[in-house]
Amino acid sequence: MSILAYHMVDNRFDLGVTRVKPAQFHRQVESALQEGFLFQTISEYLFAGNEHPKRVALTFDDGYESVYTYAYPILTRYNLPATVFVSPNFMGKLNTWDVNLGGLKFRHMNWEQLKEVTTAGWEAGSHTMNHRDLTRLSPESRKKELLESRDILNANVHNFKYIVAYPFGNSNAQVVQDCLELGYRAGLIMGASRSKMPDVFATPRIGMYLWDTLVSFRHKLYGRNMWFYNTLQDAINVCSDCTVLIKKSSWT
Ligand SMILES: [Zn+2]
Repeated sequence: MSILAYHMVDNRFDLGVTRVKPAQFHRQVESALQEGFLFQTISEYLFAGNEHPKRVALTFDDGYESVYTYAYPILTRYNLPATVFVSPNFMGKLNTWDVNLGGLKFRHMNWEQLKEVTTAGWEAGSHTMNHRDLTRLSPESRKKELLESRDILNANVHNFKYIVAYPFGNSNAQVVQDCLELGYRAGLIMGASRSKMPDVFATPRIGMYLWDTLVSFRHKLYGRNMWFYNTLQDAINVCSDCTVLIKKSSWT
């Protein structure tokens, strides 16, 4: 039982680690199938009440075009669904919201591509309008990010289920309050929840990275050795907070 968080599925070299190679991803999917896992969209995973003992939800943050190019055909081959969290203001554009080590930029999928995958059974979620850290915005900007992305996704794809993946995994009580007021049903973070109580607005996910082997993939799939992977994830989250600090100066 786990929710896995992917970003890019790409062979292009970059200095970041939030990427898996297409062949690596393919092996992971085959491994989960061999282990007898049921693949669900995020709303199915959280709300469908399915008691299947082996369930997994694949989530793709940022909606990169490489996910459409590489991951979508692989999952389609096995008729498996996934969920993609997109930032509407970056559809079809380059990822200028990120700090691009080595100067490489990566393109996000466009609306046609998003419509195609959601028509085929994928689910779309909000990654907010502009991929800014919601915990560092004014109350007005924070709410606008959540409201506009909600409305645009609702109008453009039929498989939007009012679920948000917080950019950089960052959230707080004010963000959750806005989500509740705007009708969101769940919020996804990166890594383990700090809360002792299960909270659907701090739904934990485990990140997938370039260094993941089939062994670590299976650990994550079954939720084994999570103290180790969550500690690693905490370190990665610190790095992503550095991105926030570098990019924050350009936010309004
Ligand atoms: Zn993101």
